[in-house]
Amino acid sequence: MSGRLEWMDDALCVETDPEAFLPEQGGPGGRAARAVCRRCAVTEECLRFALVNGFEGIYGGTSTRERRGMARTRAGVAR
Ligand code: SF4
Repeated sequence: MSGRLEWMDDALCVETDPEAFLPEQGGPGGRAARAVCRRCAVTEECLRFALVNGFEGIYGGTSTRERRGMARTRAGVAR
């Protein structure tokens, strides 16, 4: 992630394997990473940050594809 933000100090994933957060397309869906996210205290902040910045991988317990769906839904609602 670029630009250090205060909430990142509480990111649980810094203590884990970063590769787990970048599952291959069609892979197991980042199950291990999602399990870490479920125990993380800053899931909402992380999800918002990933949505705004268009990151790929598991962030805030969601996959890239799930966030793209969220972004499309939000764009549709905003119209
Ligand atoms: S929600 Fe997941 S990806 Fe985001 S900071 Fe927490 S552990 Fe890391």
